[in-house]
Amino acid sequence: MIEKRDFYINGQWVAPSQSNDFAVIDPSTEDACAVISLGAEADTNAAVAAAKAALPGWMATPPAERIAMVEKLVEAYQTRGEDLAQAMSVEMGAPIDMARSQQVGAGIYHLKNFIRAAKKFQFEKPLGDHAPNDMIIHEAVGVAALITPWNWPMNQITLKVGAAAISGCTMVLKPSEQSPLNAMIFAEMMDEAGFPPGVFNLVNGDGVGVGSALTAHPDVDMVSFTGSTRAGTAISKSAAETLKKVHLELGGKGANVIFDDADEKAVKRGVLHMMNNTGQSCNAPSRMLVQRGIYDQAVATAVEVANKVSVGPASEEGRHIGPVVNELQWGKIQDLIQAGIDEGSKLVAGGTGRPDGLNKGFYVKPTIFADVNNQMVVAREEIFGPVLAMIPFDTEEEAIEIANDTPYGLTNYVQTQDMARANRMARQLRSGMVEMNGQSRSAGSPFGGMKQSGNGREGGSWGIEDFLEVKAVGGWT
Ligand code: NAD
Repeated sequence: MIEKRDFYINGQWVAPSQSNDFAVIDPSTEDACAVISLGAEADTNAAVAAAKAALPGWMATPPAERIAMVEKLVEAYQTRGEDLAQAMSVEMGAPIDMARSQQVGAGIYHLKNFIRAAKKFQFEKPLGDHAPNDMIIHEAVGVAALITPWNWPMNQITLKVGAAAISGCTMVLKPSEQSPLNAMIFAEMMDEAGFPPGVFNLVNGDGVGVGSALTAHPDVDMVSFTGSTRAGTAISKSAAETLKKVHLELGGKGANVIFDDADEKAVKRGVLHMMNNTGQSCNAPSRMLVQRGIYDQAVATAVEVANKVSVGPASEEGRHIGPVVNELQWGKIQDLIQAGIDEGSKLVAGGTGRPDGLNKGFYVKPTIFADVNNQMVVAREEIFGPVLAMIPFDTEEEAIEIANDTPYGLTNYVQTQDMARANRMARQLRSGMVEMNGQSRSAGSPFGGMKQSGNGREGGSWGIEDFLEVKAVGGWT
């Protein structure tokens, strides 16, 4: 059992202002794996005060020096990869191999992309031809509150901290109370990298406590939030009182549109993509739209693939999916699967209950619903578990209509060998990202959504810009 109650404030580990223990549960075993403390308003105030005091110095630090600090962070990160992977595996159930490669790998990938982008970024530049003496200064927004979820914890923390640090913002990180251990290791890495005291602060806590205190705090200039659309709405309302800048990365219900000329691996790839991280990804392709001529075959393939996905404890090596994060989420997924059955979606793989032989732990059966209509609950709700809804369509126009008929707009996927069609689809799908034929977007490209999936972009130069004000300076000759 790990006991880690302290917070990282002003370059030191400090005891919480009051005792408020929280047990972190290992979802593979349902046993407590750690005890942390949930912070209170006094802890939040101390962290914000430290960030405010450090702001003038950090803003005035030349960008090249700030970038050099992030390079030091990369060095520290490289020595702590295994610690991070072990922490994520016990606290949120990422299978250890996947935690090592994808979860830990994502963090280093983002930090390196920020460094590359920042080296080319013009923090100051002339306004343009019509006013040659005027200039634009990109200046830090100020004190940033960074609020992150548990599902890709290092991915989200590095996307925010890397960009904020390079932009000259100082920050208070509040990670999810479900996954605090990797965030505390990250704070140790920030300390080892040698960031000046107060530039980075970490306070553990929940949404009602530290989360709300940060979003309402008058000395916080910006909130960068990743999490559910429900919490994003609450945060926007709270931040409106002090007119903070609010950056939101929220939920999704991505469509994976498979045309009849798609490559032969498209269906299998789509099912495995959906199941990755046990279906707990905002950009999961959770609605598979399949053209009618290949629909029956696609359902048969999807069932075969889903039935072969093995489920097991996160600590075990080898290819499998783990449990979902906690009991609450397990129960919510069970209810949604049951609602899908009750509503008449055709259950062709998985279903409610735990997989055979896994009676303890928050394990969910890899589940497929076929013949789903886009108005049904399994096509509308972000289930956040290994559950796929398969929807038939006839024409390109119909596929676009179904794909766009959702409050979300994060990522959509297209599988076709007809590049003219792929091009038309990319332009008509209403989402921040469109990915084709199993290829990822290129390194450093912007991540973010439209509609109720959010309003900002993270990663590369777009991520850095989100933490910067644009100041126009003119009038001298
Ligand atoms: P959540 O919204 O419950 O919590 C996210 C974070 O917000 C946690 O740190 C939580 O303590 C905090 N929080 C909750 N309510 C708050 C409030 N009122 N004020 C301030 N802070 C508050 O989400 P979760 O369950 O941790 O994560 C899953 C959700 O995150 C899914 O909806 C998923 O789609 C979304 N997500 C989005 C992206 C993206 O980039 N778009 C990436 C990953 C996850």
